[in-house]
Amino acid sequence: MSLSLAGKTYVVMGVANKRSIAWGIARSLHNAGARLIFTYAGERIESSVRELANSLEAEGTLVLPCDVTSDEAISTCFAEIKEAVGTIHGLAHCIAFAKTEELKGEFVNTSRDGFLLAQNISSYSLTAVAKQASGLMAEGGSIVTLTYIGGERAIPNYNVMGVAKASLDASVRYLAADLGKHGIRVNSISAGPIRTLSAKAIGEFNLILSEIEERAPLRRTTTPEEVGDTAIFLFSDLSRGITGENIHVDSGFHIL
Ligand code: NAD
Repeated sequence: MSLSLAGKTYVVMGVANKRSIAWGIARSLHNAGARLIFTYAGERIESSVRELANSLEAEGTLVLPCDVTSDEAISTCFAEIKEAVGTIHGLAHCIAFAKTEELKGEFVNTSRDGFLLAQNISSYSLTAVAKQASGLMAEGGSIVTLTYIGGERAIPNYNVMGVAKASLDASVRYLAADLGKHGIRVNSISAGPIRTLSAKAIGEFNLILSEIEERAPLRRTTTPEEVGDTAIFLFSDLSRGITGENIHVDSGFHIL
């Protein structure tokens, strides 16, 4: 049993820029010798994802579009992956979205549209991509998604995204129950707050960060590298007995 992922192929969904947690996961996977396939949503970030992917100077890296709001885009993307590599060994789902105006103030003001949008992109997308990806995991596999403590507790301003994370957390358990018989494991990492593009949308994010620095057992904020290294543990056979689980990588904040 080892943490080398040489000879294995992983799909990383959700790199937007170098601050993205998905990029932290991609670097850990790359360092472990894995081959990477990146997916992105929208032409606006395509060049940034291509630039980052090229910076790895790794042979066989692919970059493909995949807007998770479209079933057609998801099936086209995985058909292309199948054609290019045949088998994949894992997938990192690092995707979330909610309207900025619903990430501040009171949750009770959440609109129907905003609620459904957050659920669609941040939660249902895991099930949609797990269905397609599992078809390419002929040798078994590991799916990892990113969640946040705001799905377990009411965290100020996290609001509609907290409810989407609770639904994502439940989806991890149901997917793990379904896919386990095919040797496919499904787990989540609950990351501590990290300053990324998405995090900027959350009201008073700086206060959340300073609370971690002051109160979390490790007295420091979480880094994308820490999340990436936990992800490769979940991708490797070192974690072969773990599925349906959520691992907090948050300097211990969740115990308080
Ligand atoms: P990020 O903005 O770098 O990544 C979010 C990604 O979601 C972006 O790449 C964006 O393009 C993608 N996305 C949005 N709509 C999409 C769509 N329709 N189709 C495909 N992709 C779409 O921010 P991040 O913080 O790295 O977020 C990654 C994940 O980590 C999210 O699930 C987020 O909730 C989770 N997370 C973040 C933190 C944090 O503090 N940053 C903490 C815990 C969990």
